[in-house]
Amino acid sequence: MIDPFGRAVTYLRVSVTDRCDFRCKYCMSENMTFLPKKDVLNLEELELVTASFIRKGVRKVRLTGGEPLVRKGIMNLVENLGRYLDSGELDELTLTTNGSQLEKYADGLVSAGVRRINVSLDTLDAKHFQEITRWGSLDKVMTGLDAAQKAGLKIKLNTVAVRGFNDHEVDDLIRFAGSRDMDITFIETMPMGAIDELRSDNFLPLSELKETISKNWTLVPTDYKTGGPSDYMTISQTGNRIGFITPLSHNFCESCNRVRLTCTGMLYMCLGQEDSADLKAVLRGENGIAKLDQAIDEAIGRKPKGHDFVIDRTSDQMPAVARHMSVTGG
Ligand code: SAM
Repeated sequence: MIDPFGRAVTYLRVSVTDRCDFRCKYCMSENMTFLPKKDVLNLEELELVTASFIRKGVRKVRLTGGEPLVRKGIMNLVENLGRYLDSGELDELTLTTNGSQLEKYADGLVSAGVRRINVSLDTLDAKHFQEITRWGSLDKVMTGLDAAQKAGLKIKLNTVAVRGFNDHEVDDLIRFAGSRDMDITFIETMPMGAIDELRSDNFLPLSELKETISKNWTLVPTDYKTGGPSDYMTISQTGNRIGFITPLSHNFCESCNRVRLTCTGMLYMCLGQEDSADLKAVLRGENGIAKLDQAIDEAIGRKPKGHDFVIDRTSDQMPAVARHMSVTGG
């Protein structure tokens, strides 16, 4: 699948649920209204749509959410998608998780063929952790990380940079990642969905964070690329990689290779734009499966050049996109 700007779309991110057991302050408001069940694709439908993308050339699938591991029956989907790894039709099946359920699922993920996962971790301080996630427990995540590594999963930490919250903790986070042989990626907050506070109050440009980090750590440029938005460097002292996702201070869309499917079957061709294609309507209509391919082609034909994220006082009132990250999946 080649989009109008000549980019090959080989990566599908699937948000399998909009629900989450955490309420991270920059992501959701505390009182979220979640989708009614009838609007959500069942696991078979999610698999059917994902399989269509694989047939059309997608080589990497990432499950996300919401929290993917709180979706009932999720391991059935993981196992079924794992078969595409066995057959060589897929290079990688992975997921992004908050880590709360890893103790329960790490072994199953490995059995299904998952080799690497991203785990979101914004702080190593238990009290801070509870404050930012509102409902989360750092202990549970740490147990999950232990279980995941014991099962053999390679882990990359994702840390959202929040001014006044975790900027003083970056050295500890880098040291922790290094001591556990994990890579770490810092992410700028993106203006997605209304939350209970002002994003502009604690937006931290990663250019600034990188300068702070460079005072204590030697960052060596690398040509490591995942086709994704992260700009990777190696930390000499730990030997691990550090990534910077800077949608606000640097636009990375020229190499975008991905599209995103929500749990309601909406296909978003860009994380930061509203245009979408309703694949659930196609799938549930007459001759649904047969019509999916054409609907996907049409959608890829509308993939935009890039996003227009800005964080300022205006975006506090009106985020770049109305949907929360938990809808499209981060
Ligand atoms: N529940 C899983 C998790 O915690 O990783 C997967 C979904 S979560 C929406 C995916 C990632 O998006 C997390 O790393 C989260 O911190 C990040 N995220 C959520 N809202 C964001 C925002 N407005 N800007 C930047 N990153 C955000």
